[in-house]
Amino acid sequence: MDRPAIAIVGAGPRGAGLLERVAASVVELLPQAGATALDVHLIDPFPAGAGRIWRHDQSPLLAMNSMAADVTMFTDASVRCEGPIVPGPSLWDWAQDLRSGRLAGADEDLSPELAAELRALTAATFPTRRLQSAYLAWVLRHVIAGLPPEVRVQIHECRAVGLADDPSDARQLVHLEGGATLRVDAVVLASGHLDATPTEAERDLAERAAAAGLRYLPPEQTTDSDLSGIEPGEPVIVRGTGLAFVDLVVLLYEGRGGRYEPDPTGPGALRYVPSGREPVLHVGSPRGALYHAKTEYELRGGRPRLPRFLGRSVVDPLVARGGVDLRTEVGPLMAKEIAWGWYHELVHGHPDRVHVEPDAFDSRYAAADWGSPAMTALIAEAVPNPRDRIDFAALDRPLDRVRAGSLDELQHRVRDVIADDLHQHVDPAHTPHLGAFVAMLSVYAQITPLAVSGALTARSQDRDLGRWQSFFNAVASGPPGFRVRQLLALSRAGYVRFLGAGMTVEVGDGRFRARGAAVPGEVVTARAMIDARLPDPSVSRTTDPLLAGLLRDGAVVEDVLVDDDGTVLRNTGTIRVRPDDGAVVDARGQVNPRRFAIGPHTNVRVAGAFTRPGTNAQSLRYNDAVARAVLRSLPDIARARSAA
Ligand SMILES: Cc1cc2nc3c(=O)[nH]c(=O)nc-3n(C[C@H](O)[C@H](O)[C@H](O)COP(=O)(O)OP(=O)(O)OC[C@H]3O[C@@H](n4cnc5c(N)ncnc54)[C@H](O)[C@@H]3O)c2cc1C
Repeated sequence: MDRPAIAIVGAGPRGAGLLERVAASVVELLPQAGATALDVHLIDPFPAGAGRIWRHDQSPLLAMNSMAADVTMFTDASVRCEGPIVPGPSLWDWAQDLRSGRLAGADEDLSPELAAELRALTAATFPTRRLQSAYLAWVLRHVIAGLPPEVRVQIHECRAVGLADDPSDARQLVHLEGGATLRVDAVVLASGHLDATPTEAERDLAERAAAAGLRYLPPEQTTDSDLSGIEPGEPVIVRGTGLAFVDLVVLLYEGRGGRYEPDPTGPGALRYVPSGREPVLHVGSPRGALYHAKTEYELRGGRPRLPRFLGRSVVDPLVARGGVDLRTEVGPLMAKEIAWGWYHELVHGHPDRVHVEPDAFDSRYAAADWGSPAMTALIAEAVPNPRDRIDFAALDRPLDRVRAGSLDELQHRVRDVIADDLHQHVDPAHTPHLGAFVAMLSVYAQITPLAVSGALTARSQDRDLGRWQSFFNAVASGPPGFRVRQLLALSRAGYVRFLGAGMTVEVGDGRFRARGAAVPGEVVTARAMIDARLPDPSVSRTTDPLLAGLLRDGAVVEDVLVDDDGTVLRNTGTIRVRPDDGAVVDARGQVNPRRFAIGPHTNVRVAGAFTRPGTNAQSLRYNDAVARAVLRSLPDIARARSAA
């Protein structure tokens, strides 16, 4: 008899995390494992564990956007899931264990550079992607080593190119690049961030650029972009001020031999020392602003009680009811919760700046609705300095009000905004930013069930979820302070020039022509342009043959948002899965009990970032639910096969 088998397509963090959860539950859910055992096939052309994004083979200069203490792949006592909790080290614990020799032999594949990084690491360090790669590789080895002997894991270092039902029984046929075929009972598509062919607008821009002999790099993983055609001294228009832009800057400046040294003009300031090979980047976007810098201080007033105003008692009934409009029904509570994080920290961490006693502030705040006259009056009375009041509009779009008479003048204005933002994120006088951040994480966790359960109206999903995610990214997922200092140094040296908010680009007179709303009359021209962002998820434009084939055959379907009146609002580009367990939904709306999908290419968009320890993270709970559904599907399939 065939051994039950699972194929996991994609062995990045999600595929590896799923395997960890399969390992946790296999003994409970496959009690007959001793007799029938289980084969797990992990398929990925990139090194298993790290996968493509976290592979070792990338610039050693690229860093994580998370601190070492904020990254774990393991469940802990905070995680409320059905499967067993199997603790394991966070990245920071792992590093300490390695340093102290508690994980003997585990550092054998650390290069001298990584070993040096490991020695210098602290809980608050933003590690290199290569160090995270080593952690992820160790996690996978550790999980595999802990499996019962009857469970075998086979790693296939190649792409899966096709998936079909076996016509002779209920099994799945996974076709691999090179011609081999795996026969398995269940398949999990953990395909991650998909490459995509250009959108219509991008293709149009690319065609006009090509006709004019210009160079255009469409959205793609920055690590995979061919930047060799970007010439020293060349002006380049860059659209995008988020994390892909930060990666681009790392690769084009330090990556080409430039370096930073302390600048005596200010504490922490840097001066850029050029290599002579640098282009000049003219950067803008609709928002125009860099993401806010990561904070470099601790809370002074203690952790606020969270969730407080937006918790399960609010969210659960909304999930059960459905038809929810996020902006009008939940938006005021989201704002109140985030502002609560801010004011709790102000009241308890900086009491000298608050004119109302903590208890009175607390009860009056709790009683008032966000945006109500009572709330406005409380804040006006209690917080006399306007800089101590949370300003959502300025947090969201800090450059919208910035205007200048010339692009040269704009550089000073934008630098002032960035430097002030950095100051507010490193000077402990401004710890309310951290209070708001902590509350945003809580809000994010509460919104996720609404987002993934289908409880929001299509219109609200279309309009509000993207706005919330973009606000969250801008405030909570910004670069570490050292990257912001580097960008300021590059700006002062004239290598990075800001176009501000409201950027538009066109091709005309044989050039890319970019302008921003801050200096409407001025146009920047260049012969090269880079769209510095990841492609939007799109299965219909994916270059992955497996998913493209499944879509063609109707075996997967894209999640299209349709209003009550039948108006098509937007194709999300992600595939539809059953929210509870990730089972794939086909074009007829039928759930396929043997195929599962999990990750950013599905319409269940649980947080893509790594998990923080001790936070009952939704991503770990969801990994657990999917892993258990996959395991539960196995005996049924085996029974169905033997009955057939
Ligand atoms: C550039 C970048 C930087 C990031 N930095 C951070 C950070 O610092 N901190 C943080 O918390 N989060 C960060 N993230 C978030 C990120 O989403 C997760 O960390 C993580 O990479 C997502 O894991 P995944 O396994 O779902 O997807 P991926 O990491 O994309 O892995 C998917 C894997 O599937 C494989 N695959 C796809 N199709 C096939 C196929 N047909 N056959 C075989 N294999 C296939 C791919 O090769 C890939 O290895 C970052 C994301 C990106 C894109």
